[in-house]
Amino acid sequence: MGRDMIDQAVIYIDGKFYSKDEAKISVYEHGFLYGDGVFEGIRVYGGRAFMLDEHVSRLYESAHSIDLEIPVSEEKMRTIVLETIKRQGSADSYVRLIVTRGVGNLGLDPRSCKKGPSIIAIVESLKPLYDKPVRAIVPSVRRNAITALNPQIKSLNYLNNILAKIEATKAGADEAIMLDQRGFVSEGTGENIFILKDGKLVTPPSSSSVLVGVTRNLVLKLAKEEGIPTEERDLTVHDIYNADEAFLTGTAAEVAPIAELDGRKIGGGRLGPVTERLRRRFREFIKRNGTSP
Ligand code: PMP
Repeated sequence: MGRDMIDQAVIYIDGKFYSKDEAKISVYEHGFLYGDGVFEGIRVYGGRAFMLDEHVSRLYESAHSIDLEIPVSEEKMRTIVLETIKRQGSADSYVRLIVTRGVGNLGLDPRSCKKGPSIIAIVESLKPLYDKPVRAIVPSVRRNAITALNPQIKSLNYLNNILAKIEATKAGADEAIMLDQRGFVSEGTGENIFILKDGKLVTPPSSSSVLVGVTRNLVLKLAKEEGIPTEERDLTVHDIYNADEAFLTGTAAEVAPIAELDGRKIGGGRLGPVTERLRRRFREFIKRNGTSP
């Protein structure tokens, strides 16, 4: 999703705060050399961090999976995020929280990173996102196999997603809907996908090579509260083409309707009534929830 950020940023690196110009990392950082690290993207609405516990918890799970021991507690991590948000000062912002393997030598063995992981939090102002239904394509590149690099690990290596995004933009589309190794629908390059068919809301399960999104889980919960039946099951491209409605969910994208896939209009090619209802519920939930610095 495109995002329009204002220049004002505050960056936390290992205990100190910097401006955008001052914030620097070493070229020997394995996060830079190999994408060896993990991250999260978190929204701030009205000065409060949205779904902070869920994001921090997922960060620690990603880190644990790559055998990276984060040197502070989850509670301390939340404090770091909240302090950086406070210093940045905007009501609506975006936090990029990163934990890297650290500075080592040019070999890929993490044991050379003797000083240990770095913790980085970038907070930038975020204007409301451009809001028009998404035009997507199915790219030729497949989502990473769970058996190679599990998409549940939100690692610093996003090349798989970037390749798909490049295909989409070269084709004149906004977004790519990736397939898993079996050819079933997986997810967008930074969002999960949902369809509505005959009144039921369906999204691919974690076995379809998806990152199980915080927004995805929340939308499933809100749908249940609204009395909309939900199901996690494998979806084909045919299912998406012929859906009554389809939308993407993500921290940056929020709940974004899909207008068309591979030139086939979905529903009426515009925001559908159930998507609209869920968007309203999502906004109401945001107003009531969040962690203040
Ligand atoms: N899939 C991928 C690949 C992502 O990068 C993201 C963004 N974190 C999502 C899905 C959506 O997850 P969330 O709702 O937690 O932002």
